[in-house]
Amino acid sequence: MRPLKMSEVPSSTASKLDGLANPFIRKWLGLPRCLSDVGLFGRNTLQLPLHSISLGYKQEKARMVLELRESSDHLVRATGTQVRTGRRWKAEEEVDQAIARLKHREVVGRVQVGRAGLGRSETPLFWSKASKRERKAMVVTEVARSEQERYTIKAIPQARISFLIRATYNTLPCPQNLHLWFGTEEICPLCNTINASLQHILSGCKTALSQGRYRWRHDAVLKKLAEVAESCRREANSRPAAPARHTTQFARAGENINAPAHQTWEGSSHPAVSGT
Ligand SMILES: [Zn+2]
Repeated sequence: MRPLKMSEVPSSTASKLDGLANPFIRKWLGLPRCLSDVGLFGRNTLQLPLHSISLGYKQEKARMVLELRESSDHLVRATGTQVRTGRRWKAEEEVDQAIARLKHREVVGRVQVGRAGLGRSETPLFWSKASKRERKAMVVTEVARSEQERYTIKAIPQARISFLIRATYNTLPCPQNLHLWFGTEEICPLCNTINASLQHILSGCKTALSQGRYRWRHDAVLKKLAEVAESCRREANSRPAAPARHTTQFARAGENINAPAHQTWEGSSHPAVSGT
């Protein structure tokens, strides 16, 4: 990536290089041409150890911006050299955004991510406490993360995004909207409610509620979990019983539980006591 870092080439050139290299990667991996870059470089269900040329270019340019800004030589800092990367992607703006995100993360503080318990994750490094070298690494990592976010957004099926947006703004073809748009009388196919609203179709139809349609998916997941729990229970019950553990005996004040029975004052076997 060093030639791309030192040369004054726009980001579109790096994209073109990706366009030249990616068909060969697909060919070597035996993948069809229709597989997009999201499948190759995205960190989704499958995470291949590949990085695009564009990502390397952006990381190196971001590193160069920081080297010029935070140089130990005051003359280099004073020159205010601009890192030119074309109109499509600007390294200076990307670095500013990355720094803003890192500062915001410090304001948010330490949050729990994943299923590990509280305090099990590593202590994050915050912007104000990082050294100059660590800050540079943090910014470069942040640039890579924002690139990954783009891949993640692209990985969501277009139909799902379309449904989500249209459901939010009530523009799906529900009976009420069809009546509004075309003047026709539409009914809910399950309960025959005339001109049923989107809320009715998505979560309010009484017939669908009584038939358990809304909770079907939820119940199907619970059923699977119950099957696994039941098999674990049967396996545990079929194992031979473990030997009983030695229980702790607690003694009252003045009581000696380790003493033999004939030595206790209360026992009738003590000769002195039984004799008197
Ligand atoms: Zn209905």
